[in-house]
Amino acid sequence: MMIIDMHCDTVLKAYQEKCRSAFSFPSAHFDLSRMQGAGVKIQFFALFPGLSSALSPYRQAILLADYFGEQLQKNSGIIRLITSRQSLLQVIDSPQRGALLTAEGGEVLEGNLRKLGILYQRGVRSLCLTWNHRNEIADGAAEIKPEGLTLFGRQVVKEMNNLGMVIDLSHIAEPGFWDVLELSAYPVLASHSNSRFVWEHARNLTDDQIRGIAQRNGVVGLNFVADFLGKPGSGPEQLLRHIDHICGLVGDDYLGFGSDFDGTDNLLTGIKDVTFFSEFIAYLYKQNYKETTIRKLCGENVLRLLQEIL
Ligand SMILES: [Zn+2]
Repeated sequence: MMIIDMHCDTVLKAYQEKCRSAFSFPSAHFDLSRMQGAGVKIQFFALFPGLSSALSPYRQAILLADYFGEQLQKNSGIIRLITSRQSLLQVIDSPQRGALLTAEGGEVLEGNLRKLGILYQRGVRSLCLTWNHRNEIADGAAEIKPEGLTLFGRQVVKEMNNLGMVIDLSHIAEPGFWDVLELSAYPVLASHSNSRFVWEHARNLTDDQIRGIAQRNGVVGLNFVADFLGKPGSGPEQLLRHIDHICGLVGDDYLGFGSDFDGTDNLLTGIKDVTFFSEFIAYLYKQNYKETTIRKLCGENVLRLLQEIL
């Protein structure tokens, strides 16, 4: 079973904890040996500018990219960076694992389109346009009276389309979300967002938003953050409610996983770390989910999107 996980914050956590290896990191939710054991084939790694330092968001992203690049080099026999359709297919056809580098929060561009090009050269292939607050591109989900894409935001969307970068709409407020859907020539992701119908939370997607993503052949990535999923104390059965609702709404071609490992201390009860994936797949079989649905959910839907955009 090919598993693709569209979001983790392990790079920031490893850097903050001064780890010499982000890939051998027992206190994190994720590291290389557990990734292999759990069957994760491709992991998206976010550069999230959350360092408590005086460095600007862009500088933080570069610093984290440098750190991650060194880690990748040291583990190049096992995992490689995916930067093109060709490298994606090579990873799929080999025993190697793939890493897809993303940036979380368009503030890393600091309003400068040239910085998008530099991040692209550094291997970044997806950008989450906002985090929870306002930036130069658009407003995040925590803004009280959010507005849509700015002029700069529109330039970013077009340039991401030109470069072959994946636009990620997790965290963005609704006006910007709909502006992007209207403007983008390619499908989009919401890499780590759940259903707001199942559980009311500003970080979750409404049914209309999920339909909008599906109509454009995009993918919604379920995360494992307890607060975003349901009542305190809910277990993995709560994930099934989100899966069932989204599949009931748009079918099983638009759903994937975006765990948010190492981006939260608040995982759903029963989830310890990346090894949960193999337990959860067994659980899905036990609950009589169709094998084709499980395959699509685990990775095939995301693979389709990556093949189209990269
Ligand atoms: Zn996030």
